[in-house]
Amino acid sequence: MSSIYLHIPFCLTKCHYCDFYSLPWEDKSLPEKAFLKGLKREISLWSSWLHQQAKSPIKTIFFGGGTPSLLSPEGVEEILAYLKSLVPFSSEVEITLELNPKTAGLEKLRAFRQSGIHRISMGLQSLDEQVLKLLGRGHSGEEALQTLQAVSEAGFTNYSLDLMYGLPRQTLKSFEATLKGIQDFDFSHLSAYELIVEKATPFYRWYQQGQLNLPQEEITIQMEETLQTFCESRGLRRYEISNYAKPGEECKHNLVYWNYENFLGLGPGAVGFLKKDQLSEEAKSFWKLENKDFYGLRFNKKKDWLAYAKHADEASTWDLELISLEQARAEFFMMALRKTQGSTQSLYEKHFKEPFPQDFIKILEKYQKRGWIEKDKDRFWLNHEGLRFSQEVMGEFLVG
Ligand code: SF4
Repeated sequence: MSSIYLHIPFCLTKCHYCDFYSLPWEDKSLPEKAFLKGLKREISLWSSWLHQQAKSPIKTIFFGGGTPSLLSPEGVEEILAYLKSLVPFSSEVEITLELNPKTAGLEKLRAFRQSGIHRISMGLQSLDEQVLKLLGRGHSGEEALQTLQAVSEAGFTNYSLDLMYGLPRQTLKSFEATLKGIQDFDFSHLSAYELIVEKATPFYRWYQQGQLNLPQEEITIQMEETLQTFCESRGLRRYEISNYAKPGEECKHNLVYWNYENFLGLGPGAVGFLKKDQLSEEAKSFWKLENKDFYGLRFNKKKDWLAYAKHADEASTWDLELISLEQARAEFFMMALRKTQGSTQSLYEKHFKEPFPQDFIKILEKYQKRGWIEKDKDRFWLNHEGLRFSQEVMGEFLVG
């Protein structure tokens, strides 16, 4: 276990497309003290729940949400210091904080750097005012550009931007204008997500009522191609379905997910995944798992920040999912195929300590014939065309 995700479930406003656990908190003062108390309680519990061999130096920490940049730099520093007092940090640890443009100016960004944040991931989404309004982002394009300037002035050399495409009322021209608006900034990483209309969001309701004016599929494909050309011209290489980076600047934290490695998820609404051998006997006995046969555990922390603040270390605040070996095999492939470099048979064999399964070879061959999967020696990956149909291919591994 060498990675930690911290979920901070507060936002300024609630975006109309968002189904994450995040609460609009615009006018109220943040209950930071109570929240951090819960977080420390949970961290402290995990320090005794991890098997001794799992306590290797931490390589990545990701403050996500929600809007973690609503926290004070002192609060971030306090949590990092607390973590460090329990588990050592690797000398090359990557510590990322997600940033909403309206929550931090130059001074606060400098203080975040002082508190130990190395990397900023800023949600910009679009610079088109009309589109931003429809998304319910609560900030303007101009504000986003000012914050971007402040990120750079504060001395962050490693920062990432989030963009969205396939949005209501978004035209190719508007998308191109957003790319033009950011072109003078020296970001090392870009994430670009095509809109997914999630249930239980205003977008879903509007979609059902026929009021969500989405661009046609061929326009969305053109946006993706425009993005690809833009990234290539700046030396950003696509390394995952939605992620582009300069060589060596890939998000180490997200690679942990895609490499199907262990990670802790802390905070209400967070998800963590640990293989069985990462758990101490104490943890197994707490969960009554001593005699159970499973490959790993997925920990879903319940989406209730108040209960979390008071009882973060109680069993009732988790939903536990036992992951069988069969499920883990499928998940390994689903994650591996998200990366443009895919994976290798030998990596699978090392991971699961068993030969590469015949039924998976058949699935890979099927999609190789269709022209979506490439193979070279024991490496396999989805090509450009295949990445567009990744959901279909990945789904097949789940069914088996
Ligand atoms: S800022 Fe992010 S987490 Fe918060 S509501 Fe918007 S999309 Fe969701």
